[in-house]
Amino acid sequence: MVELTKRQEERAKRLHKEAMVIDTHCDTLMRLLPQRGPRKARKLGERSEEGHIDLPRLIEGGVTCQTFAMYTGNRPIVPDATLNALKMVDVFYESVKRNDEMVAVTKAEEILNAKKQGKVAGMLSIEGAEPLMGDIGLLRVFYRLGVRMLSFAWNFRTPFADGIGAKRSESKLPELGIQALEEMVNLGMVFDVSHLCDSNFWDVADVMDGPFIASHSNCRALSDHPRNLTDDMLKALAEKGGVTGMNYAPSFVVPRDKINAGYKPTIEDLVNHIDHIVKVVGINHVGLGSDFDGIGQPPTGLEDVSKVPNITRVLVKRGYSDEDIKKILGGNFLRVFKQVLR
Ligand SMILES: [Zn+2]
Repeated sequence: MVELTKRQEERAKRLHKEAMVIDTHCDTLMRLLPQRGPRKARKLGERSEEGHIDLPRLIEGGVTCQTFAMYTGNRPIVPDATLNALKMVDVFYESVKRNDEMVAVTKAEEILNAKKQGKVAGMLSIEGAEPLMGDIGLLRVFYRLGVRMLSFAWNFRTPFADGIGAKRSESKLPELGIQALEEMVNLGMVFDVSHLCDSNFWDVADVMDGPFIASHSNCRALSDHPRNLTDDMLKALAEKGGVTGMNYAPSFVVPRDKINAGYKPTIEDLVNHIDHIVKVVGINHVGLGSDFDGIGQPPTGLEDVSKVPNITRVLVKRGYSDEDIKKILGGNFLRVFKQVLR
């Protein structure tokens, strides 16, 4: 693991405590629903030996705001996606109700208040627009339920966009996608390009005036995975004031052939993506988007959310300034939330 001097350790500790730590993607909600098979549903308020996120570990990891994604699109047509999403909305609010150290948020101001009160903020998002059933009315319904971030597709095609797995997807966003995007801008919702196919990414970059984000995508220059962003995509995202959240999935961090050859990614490999983004577009466009509870084994040093302070330690080791570390940990995403969420 990373070795720091005593002074560096103290500085890392202080910075992590002071910083707004924001993570824009996890798949924890589905682990809180009744599980198929022998596995038991986890409880957000109880520390588990399984998975990556629960409230005790969020507190230990010094996380200020965790976005909880509702993911339902595990096949091309999901008839029960809306129902499943609603069940996740329910389990989210029930979990918040049962745990005093947590608060549901829909605005940047509420995240700042949570930090002041020493609570963990939780924000709802939808990963893949399957629950909307091609209906902009349902977009508004989910907005009213507190959803503030949305990606139009997971890996398949939805009525709003093509995901990275959609065949013959070298096209622009469909008309409905453009309409939904405009409605998101009107409502004040964060548009998330993670999982979009490349051509749809470029259409979003073309259509959007304000910032959009990639909630959990790394750099293709370091790991050539279709879920990661090319340098040109990073530049387009940065030009609109957007931010990309670093994903801890092994094959997003280092190339798959390296993993297949037995290499185990480390937290240092992950921070290489942060360095790369800073080099390509500057300090204002990178954040955290773990994908915890949606990935296999995370990099060594980042085994679960309680280990997030290790990212700060590596950033200190690499010589980032206090201000820059705070931007990476959450300041950049907070800036976008301030701008977009009303
Ligand atoms: Zn994902």
